[in-house]
Amino acid sequence: MTTPVSRGATPALPDRHPRLTVLSGPSGVGKSTVVAHLRKAHPEVWLSVSATTRRPRPGERHGVHYFFVDDEEFDKLVANGELLEWAEFAGNRYGTPRRAVLEKLEAGEPVLLEIDLQGARLVRASMPEAQLVFLAPPGWDELVRRLTGRGTEAPEVIERRLAAARTELAAESEFDTTLVNTSVEDVAAELLALL
Ligand code: ADP
Ligand code: 5GP
Repeated sequence: MTTPVSRGATPALPDRHPRLTVLSGPSGVGKSTVVAHLRKAHPEVWLSVSATTRRPRPGERHGVHYFFVDDEEFDKLVANGELLEWAEFAGNRYGTPRRAVLEKLEAGEPVLLEIDLQGARLVRASMPEAQLVFLAPPGWDELVRRLTGRGTEAPEVIERRLAAARTELAAESEFDTTLVNTSVEDVAAELLALL
């Protein structure tokens, strides 16, 4: 079983700043779907675009879904302190660019991060006032169906992600709020209300 290991740390932010919300949950639960639905109706909701060493899925665009970088570029982002947090997940690295997040918070705008459990823990450690929201599946079998049904990962990658999902589901109690993704519309409305 793959146990994700946290690798990144992040210096503290200024004492007073508006709310930062972290959305986490197992791969395939529907995080991207819910956030896309929310932002379609509310384009003003700002979502941080992460950097990743993962290869793009069909339809994913550089600078929109992720900043797709190679290992060397990711190393530089880490070395230059450009990431607020970062973690390795199922064989790839992912990180939150620091500057854009701080600029939004300093401008008084709410910030939404869609990151994994390790990242959520790192954000909590450096920003105790951040709001942590866990997106849970209606059940394990449905999670497997969604992850498999998405059809974007090879079987061995699905296995790694499901192994990580067991760890993530076990950590639900660390979050401030749990939303169960039965209906995308309902969950998007609930998330909007929390921001
Ligand atoms: P994540 O971003 O958490 O990895 P995705 O948003 O890619 O997950 O969703 C995984 C799959 O589950 C997609 O095929 C998506 O269409 C589907 N899905 C998302 N939310 C729901 C839902 N409430 N009911 C049924 N299918 C869903
Ligand atoms: P995916 O490859 O399915 O897009 O994302 C895999 C996992 O990485 C998901 O749990 C997603 O939330 C997480 N992730 C995406 N961006 C970041 C990031 O910047 N930091 C961390 N820690 N996790 C991220």
